[in-house]
Amino acid sequence: MGPDMYGCGPLIPALSETARPLRQQIFERVRAAGFIPRVQVAKELAISPATVTTLTSELMEMGLVEEIATPRDGESGRGRPAVALGVRPDAHLVAGIKLSDRENTAVIVDFAGNLVADLAIPHQPGAMELTDLVSLTADLVDQICLRAGIGRSQLSAIGLGVPGFVDAAAGIAHWSPLLSGRHVPLAQALSAQLGLPVHIDNDANLVTLAELWFGAGRYLSDFAVVTIEHGVGMGFVLNHRIYRGAQGLGMELGHTKVQLDGALCRCGQRGCLEAYVADYALAREATTALNWTNRENRSINILLESLYDHAKAGNQAARSIFHRAGRFLALGLANVVNLFDPELIILSGERMRYDYLYANETLAEIKALALNTGRPAPKIEIHAWGDLLWAHGAAALALSAVTEGLLAPAREIAAR
Ligand SMILES: [Zn+2]
Repeated sequence: MGPDMYGCGPLIPALSETARPLRQQIFERVRAAGFIPRVQVAKELAISPATVTTLTSELMEMGLVEEIATPRDGESGRGRPAVALGVRPDAHLVAGIKLSDRENTAVIVDFAGNLVADLAIPHQPGAMELTDLVSLTADLVDQICLRAGIGRSQLSAIGLGVPGFVDAAAGIAHWSPLLSGRHVPLAQALSAQLGLPVHIDNDANLVTLAELWFGAGRYLSDFAVVTIEHGVGMGFVLNHRIYRGAQGLGMELGHTKVQLDGALCRCGQRGCLEAYVADYALAREATTALNWTNRENRSINILLESLYDHAKAGNQAARSIFHRAGRFLALGLANVVNLFDPELIILSGERMRYDYLYANETLAEIKALALNTGRPAPKIEIHAWGDLLWAHGAAALALSAVTEGLLAPAREIAAR
C-alpha cells in the first residue's frame, strides 16, 4: 500500500454497473415487468411517485415507453381502465445471430423482447478467413431482415455469438474454431461491413444471457449455465449480472484441470475437463475402445450417434465411456458448487439427449463431491434448447447495448 493511499473502503465509481441512473432503473423495471403501473414502480424502487412521473415522461418523450390501458382486477371491464407503463415494442429492433459448426441461426426481436423473425441455416464446419465470416454474417443479416420485412438500416444493433475465447468488451475473438486467425477484431470488422453497431460474445455467455433475459434465470441472482457441446463452456450470473472476469475471459470451466498430466486438450494443455467430456473426447475414446478405425473419416456427430446407439443397446464399453465422462463432469460441477454456491446449475446444449452423461449416478456423484454442509445442494436442470434460443441470447446482448447507449451517461459507455 503506497503513501498516496487515503481513506478506506472500495473505490466504487459513482455510476458503476450496480449503481445505474434512476431513469435507466425505471426503464429496466418496466421492461422486466411487461407492463406495470407507475405507483408500483415507485414502490419497488423505493422512490417517490413524483420522481417516477418525471422520469417516465422523459422515457415517453424519448419514445421508449408508452402508456397501456389494462383492465382492473375483478372489475370485468367496468369503470376507467388502469394505466400501466410498457416498453414501446417498435422503438428499436435488434438482430441476434449465433454462428456454429453445424448451423447458423438468427432472430430479430423488438425493443420489448418479442420475436419478430427467425432463421436457421445448416452450415459446414471449418475455420474461415475473417472476410468470409463477415460476408457470411452480412448475408444472414440480410436474409433475416427480408423475412422480417425490414431493411438492414432499421436495425439498431446486432449481437453475434461465436464459440471460442471472446473478449466481449473489446470485440475481439482471441480464438474461435470458426476463424483461422487469432486475436481477430471481429466486432469492428462486422460493424464496418454492416454499418451497424455489432456486439460479440462467446456462445456460453449467450445461452446464459438467454436464460437471464428469457428463461429460468430471470428470477435468480446467482446461477450457472454449463454448456456441453464441441467444448465445455460456462456462463455465470452474479447478482443478476453476467460475470466475465477482469479481462473478460473468465469462467472457462472446460479448461479447469481435473487430472494432473491427463488427457490432451485441444487448447494444448493436459488434464482439462473438456478433454474428458466434450464430443471430441468421447469420439476419441470410442475409436479406441470400440476398435473403430474410422477409416471412412466419419464425422464426430455420426461417431457419437453410433456410440450412443451402442450404449442404449447394452454395449458395456460404450456405456463405460459415457459413465467415465459423466464422472469427470460431476467433478467439474462439484467444483463449481464448492466455489460459487449457485442457486441453480443449468446444463445446456444441442446434444442433451446423450442422457448417459447426466444420469442419476452423475448427479449423485456431484452431491458426494460437494462440501457436506447439511444444506440442500443446488438444483440442476437440463435444458435441451435449440439454437434459436442461443440467438435470443445474442439479441439480449444487442438489446442491452442499445439500452445502455440510450440511457447510461456517455462516459459510462466510453469506459466499456
Ligand atoms: Zn484445455
